Amino acid sequence: MATQVHAIQTGSVRVKTAQLRGRGRGMARQLAIFTDPQWSEWLPTYAFVIGHEEGIFVVDAGQGLHLLRHRQSIHPYLRWEVDFRLDPEEEIGPRLRNMGIAPRAVRQVLLTHLHVDHDGGLNQLAGVQTLATSHEIKAAGGWSGQLRGYLPHRWPGSFEPRPIPFESERFGPFTSSYRVTRAGDVVLVPTPGHTPGHASVLVEMGDADKTLVMLAGDASYTEQLMIDGLADGVSPVESVTIATLRKIRDLAVSRRLVYLPTHDPKSAERLGKLQPVFTEPHGGGSKKAESPDTVGRISAQSH
Ligand SMILES: [Zn+2]
Repeated sequence: MATQVHAIQTGSVRVKTAQLRGRGRGMARQLAIFTDPQWSEWLPTYAFVIGHEEGIFVVDAGQGLHLLRHRQSIHPYLRWEVDFRLDPEEEIGPRLRNMGIAPRAVRQVLLTHLHVDHDGGLNQLAGVQTLATSHEIKAAGGWSGQLRGYLPHRWPGSFEPRPIPFESERFGPFTSSYRVTRAGDVVLVPTPGHTPGHASVLVEMGDADKTLVMLAGDASYTEQLMIDGLADGVSPVESVTIATLRKIRDLAVSRRLVYLPTHDPKSAERLGKLQPVFTEPHGGGSKKAESPDTVGRISAQSH
């Protein structure tokens, strides 16, 4: 059976524009979100399903209905700086059942990170083994996690995520990785930046073009921001994000990479076409030249 990847939209989200593309440096960059009056457009929140001969894997659990009450939160970010849309049938449980997948039949849930729009549907995947980085699990748990804007009290009672046992096995520019499948064709790599414990999922599609699909979580909010090498407004350390984006770009230059961030409005379309970041080797191709959003692209491709 050929490996398949499906995008599932679990509602939409909008944030301040200074969150998508960071402004300023250091702490000022994070505070800019709070002073920015400008909302982004509504962005999709995708989770992904990997149909593999070793089983069904779900990447991120998406948004949950509890997020519609975020205005009651005492956390200033959740109260003022983010907005969600979601219908009950858009939660991951109903979405999976619509695809003919019983949530308990999922083999593993792979979490890129534990932000509220990525773990919101975990209660519908209760009992399924779940992986996240040890750094992320530690950062998100307990009271200190709540102070950081995580919602650990929304996790199912049985939730005991397994820390991803990264090994010093190289995958392209990434110096450590973890093989999720025995075949070694679904791989987790650390992509720190957006959060210090952020990870991404790489799927070898096994097609004639040797396409690699990257389920990138919030490594960047869009493909273009990755190409431009621009850190978002929530990354605690800008240089860590930029180093990760450079690795992803290097990977996209060295092979045919389909790059799918959680909130990129074009992710589902690119997945449908298996459309790579660069249409020609070495970062060339006409696709990006047509983009209206080319700030920094020339310097980004100068390697
Ligand atoms: Zn996030």
